[in-house]
Amino acid sequence: MPSMRAAVCHVFGEPLLVEEVSLPAPGPNQVRVELAAVAICHSDIAFAEGAWGGDLPAVYGHEASGRVAEIGAGVNDLAVGDHVVVTLIRSCGECKYCRSGYEVACATTFEENAPLRDAEGNPVYPAMKTGAFAEEVVVHRSQLVAIDERISLDAAALLGCGVITGVGSVTNVADVQPGSNVVVIGSGGVGLNVVQGAALAGAAAIVAIDLVDDKLQAAKEFGATHIVNASSEDVAAAVASVTGGEMADQVFVTVTAKAAFDEAPTLLAPTGAVVLIGLPPTGVTSTFIPLTLADQSQRMLGSKLGAARISIDIPRLVRLYEEGRLKLDELITGRYPLEEINEAIASVERGEALRHLIVF
Ligand SMILES: [Zn+2]
Ligand SMILES: [Zn+2]
Repeated sequence: MPSMRAAVCHVFGEPLLVEEVSLPAPGPNQVRVELAAVAICHSDIAFAEGAWGGDLPAVYGHEASGRVAEIGAGVNDLAVGDHVVVTLIRSCGECKYCRSGYEVACATTFEENAPLRDAEGNPVYPAMKTGAFAEEVVVHRSQLVAIDERISLDAAALLGCGVITGVGSVTNVADVQPGSNVVVIGSGGVGLNVVQGAALAGAAAIVAIDLVDDKLQAAKEFGATHIVNASSEDVAAAVASVTGGEMADQVFVTVTAKAAFDEAPTLLAPTGAVVLIGLPPTGVTSTFIPLTLADQSQRMLGSKLGAARISIDIPRLVRLYEEGRLKLDELITGRYPLEEINEAIASVERGEALRHLIVF
């Protein structure tokens, strides 16, 4: 079995340890990918802190890119050396959810990926079907999308989660129409992609809300028409002022704080929709007023990974990037070697990152 370096979580909340582990050969319909880059997503950090439980020791990381290194039986449409985006969306293509375009809700139970092995032969689990804080991954064919070799693999990595989630929430889940008034709570990696998705969709007003002025400035560069710092401004009054009292057609919640989920419905216009993207820890509850939602025909829409159909959405996003209409390079705020992953995570937690990459 080939051996590689991976950043392993042994205890929730403690630093990851970079160590040698061995990798299984790809089974049927699986592919081994040599990674070029993997982004640090907030979900990786939440998992490593124990927000959602899961088996340990584990390797997180799920927003990646690389080159195909080895192909399992039954994979006929990829070749060794192909450049690919690696995602955590594993789908069968045949269940009712896949057939209706919701690969992210695929109901088929797959055999779990074979675990990695440490030096003593003990299992190390690749989390989120991926385990990409590592030099290589073995994943199901459905998790990969081949891309043009001219696209930088650093930029392409971001298409694996944050970009498809943000833009997909606008186009696939909320179906934002030209002229809409949009509010985006949170201007991090996903929030900025909601902002640029809303701009691509032709929204008239795009109000970005955050607590950090630097992030709000970034939101402006990604297409926000108005910015509101919620630590010093009254958010509802600001949204009312921007929309001439109409309030928002869509409110996207890209953060995980309970207060944001509680406030979001209060910012809606009649018939508007809250789109829930951020994933709070297990057990967090939110409160809303059912009378208002029912009486005003308002909606709440969950958006797992922007309901991405990766084989369709990723090539479209690549094309927008090539045409200069989708920003990817501007999202990259830092590049770290695997050995410095804990420093990279600490920097994300200090709010310094749009997206930090581990590069190989
Ligand atoms: Zn993610
Ligand atoms: Zn399926």
